[in-house]
Amino acid sequence: MKEVKSALGFMSSAQGFGPADKLKLALFLLKAKPCTYVILKITPDNLDEKAHFEQHLNELGILFDVSRPKSFEEISSIKGDVVHWKIKGTWHGYDLFSSAEVKRQFKNYVQAVRKQQQVLADRLGGELYGYSSCCVEQYTKDHNIGHLRKNYSYCEFYTKLHDVERKFPFLTHTACSSSCAKSRSLNEKYSKLLKKNAPAFFKEFTAKKQHSSPVIVDGESDIFDDKFSGILGGKSIWPVKDCHEYGVIAAKQYENHYYLYSYLTKQSYEHGTIVPAKITMQFNYADMELGKPVKIIAGIRHQRQFALLGREY
Ligand SMILES: [Zn+2]
Repeated sequence: MKEVKSALGFMSSAQGFGPADKLKLALFLLKAKPCTYVILKITPDNLDEKAHFEQHLNELGILFDVSRPKSFEEISSIKGDVVHWKIKGTWHGYDLFSSAEVKRQFKNYVQAVRKQQQVLADRLGGELYGYSSCCVEQYTKDHNIGHLRKNYSYCEFYTKLHDVERKFPFLTHTACSSSCAKSRSLNEKYSKLLKKNAPAFFKEFTAKKQHSSPVIVDGESDIFDDKFSGILGGKSIWPVKDCHEYGVIAAKQYENHYYLYSYLTKQSYEHGTIVPAKITMQFNYADMELGKPVKIIAGIRHQRQFALLGREY
């Protein structure tokens, strides 16, 4: 237990883990999950954290696979109609396993993902990552475009995602609904476990951080009729939108970073609209109160070289 405490202490103060990764890591270290995947970002400010993290893993006898380093970018400035991105450092993906048996099961899961056996992959993944079975079933259903189109309007779908995230902030999966009993009990269990055993992380994760900044309305979330057609200008499965989930960029830095948020609203904004906002960050999301639009930056665009963080199998 002493080694777990020391690993949790390192994790809480590590710069290279974001809040969602810290949550997953803490729950794994406290044995609430058999398996997890976390991303560690390395910049010139935290060069020692990779070796330090692996030292803790070895001390605990945790089996892990680490990916090769890949570069990542962050917004470095916003000037005129261009959002500039700069390479900030590299990231590694870690698969962590609580036992050799779990590692074997993980191999089966990766096989199923590669073979695109989606139902099997979701079930195996759900077990390994400790998700509730009802939520895994719903997740599999919601992966089907036909099911989505038939059962949700745009607004119903994105409202559900926002609702379950706010209702169950300690979960690392998407709950099947905001009234899911299994999710409610897991959320409570995790909250208590973390409060007791990882108090520094718990305090940081639950704290409300507020700041005011103009936000720039950027892209809008959507789902296309096949997974590649969005890139090729395919058709949305919701041609009529009863609300909007926008990606917005805070134009003012907060703690030395430009943040990107998602904002769900009935109101429609033109791409590039600048709106003053009061932003409250808590857990792994942000709530926003928007004022009246100030102006529109026509044709705002991003100048970057890499896709966002993601994993390959
Ligand atoms: Zn559920």
